[in-house]
Amino acid sequence: MPIYEFECEECGARFEELVAAGGASACSACGSERTRRLYSSVSPPGRQPRGAKVRSDESRRGDREAARQQRITESRKRRAAGEKP
Ligand SMILES: [Zn+2]
Repeated sequence: MPIYEFECEECGARFEELVAAGGASACSACGSERTRRLYSSVSPPGRQPRGAKVRSDESRRGDREAARQQRITESRKRRAAGEKP
């Protein structure tokens, strides 16, 4: 579920809420339901919420490490094949 940023039309407060797509949320400051959803660059609709980027960076690092290990394994195989009489 994406995090949306809302701005309250009553008091102007901005806050972030986890809501279903198309959903609305009451103001966290004054409780007014006259809020509008902002399309912030931090967590635009359809993207994953904050924190997901860190995890995906770690996942990419894991992929690079796996590829490195595979290259090492293949070069060892080639060397072993070349050393055969
Ligand atoms: Zn408010």
